[in-house]
Amino acid sequence: MIKKEGFDFIFDETACQKKCKALCCKGNGYVFLSNKEINEIANYLNIDRETFLKLYTKKAIYGKRIALVDLRINSETRCVFLDDNDRCEIYEKRPKQCRDFPFWKHLSKKPKEELKKLCPGIVYADK
Ligand code: SF4
Repeated sequence: MIKKEGFDFIFDETACQKKCKALCCKGNGYVFLSNKEINEIANYLNIDRETFLKLYTKKAIYGKRIALVDLRINSETRCVFLDDNDRCEIYEKRPKQCRDFPFWKHLSKKPKEELKKLCPGIVYADK
């Protein structure tokens, strides 16, 4: 169980393996990458940085940031690295933004019922 200051829930990271539908990897939004992450993921995939950038990323925030590409499949938007079984293909090297989920600042203000639907790993003291 992981706790973080400023959040009134805790996160059961074992839920990712058991009952997750990967909702955090679906829908609109950006997964931003740092320079270091670009190199690490390209290395993990055994391709060079330029190929990785071309195949898996897009520019965001008026070209100031690099983010992962989304795919639109059966009217669902999903991260390019989410496989058919809703598993992350680069889990070991997933970006910090993904590792930080569900402790994203904007989620700290979301209603409890909404968050519980988003992620089965989000646990409140009163259940
Ligand atoms: S990189 Fe992996 S964990 Fe992050 S959004 Fe994509 S599929 Fe999900």
